[in-house]
Amino acid sequence: MDLKKTLSIIKPDAIASKCQGKILDYLENKGFKVIAQKKLKLTRKQAEAFYEIHKDRPFFSELVDFMISDNISVQVLEAENAVSYYREVMGNTDPEKAEENTIRKLYGSNIQCNAVHGSDSEENAEKEISFFFNKIELIN
Ligand code: ADP
Ligand code: MG
Repeated sequence: MDLKKTLSIIKPDAIASKCQGKILDYLENKGFKVIAQKKLKLTRKQAEAFYEIHKDRPFFSELVDFMISDNISVQVLEAENAVSYYREVMGNTDPEKAEENTIRKLYGSNIQCNAVHGSDSEENAEKEISFFFNKIELIN
């Protein structure tokens, strides 16, 4: 089995609606192992740095405001093909377009407040994991 890692964020909307536990339960039932986890509140500079690739998109400043509006919970998840598997169970960016029983369909509200983040490539997963976690936090 070729286990890989991906970075997950339970976003402020899902924390505020008390769906964190349900999302973690869902992920464990889907076979993901939570390797590392932390709760934090991003500063504006941190949120801007994390979403830098979107800095020229029209929704960038709204996205940053949303991501700093409350605590978030960040996980490193391990599974076979973790990146693509998490994208699949997370569902479409827009909860209205997401398939039934995906996290965003179940717990997302709209295209911005869509409950979770998941890395979009193995290369970005590595960068995003090291954005939030240092080496010692990933050894278990
Ligand atoms: P994904 O999270 O599915 O990888 P993107 O990387 O395209 O989607 O966008 C990052 C995040 O920006 C989304 O999860 C969502 O919170 C927000 N977002 C994306 N598109 C829009 C939009 N059209 N309007 C408002 N917010 C958006
Ligand atoms: Mg993305």
